[in-house]
Amino acid sequence: MNHQECLVCYESKEMEKFRTESSYCQHSKLICSPCLDILVKAECPYCRENWEAFLERPPPFLTEYWEAVYMWIAIAEGDLIFLQALLEDFGCNATKVLPFDSMARMITGATESEDPVIKWLEHPDRVIMKKNLLLVNGITFDHELEKFVRTI
Ligand SMILES: [Zn+2]
Ligand SMILES: [Zn+2]
Repeated sequence: MNHQECLVCYESKEMEKFRTESSYCQHSKLICSPCLDILVKAECPYCRENWEAFLERPPPFLTEYWEAVYMWIAIAEGDLIFLQALLEDFGCNATKVLPFDSMARMITGATESEDPVIKWLEHPDRVIMKKNLLLVNGITFDHELEKFVRTI
């Protein structure tokens, strides 16, 4: 029987375990279906070709930039309801390496000697800023449901 080694798990598997249609870069034919299914990002792990169409996955709801901004705010505020919405409802990835420090200073304008968390929490317009940032991405807090919901 014909076998092929998977580029990701290095296991030798039957050809039926591989997809026959290929992405432009051809690496997809060399990665077994179980490995394709669990790719964190919809892109080729070798050449970074965008595989959203190939894997038939919808594009992420939030860009990496907004994901990083919101994750930082949720953690700075200890807002567990917001954090839960980000991770469970909006598909944010907690294992991503985020430029937390630079992100925090950019949002708050804190200098090197200032603590961006304190600066954010003490900001008089923080609540309005957060609300407006969320509105940009079509997220609002539903007071009846007591959770963050998508409006787009
Ligand atoms: Zn594999
Ligand atoms: Zn590739």
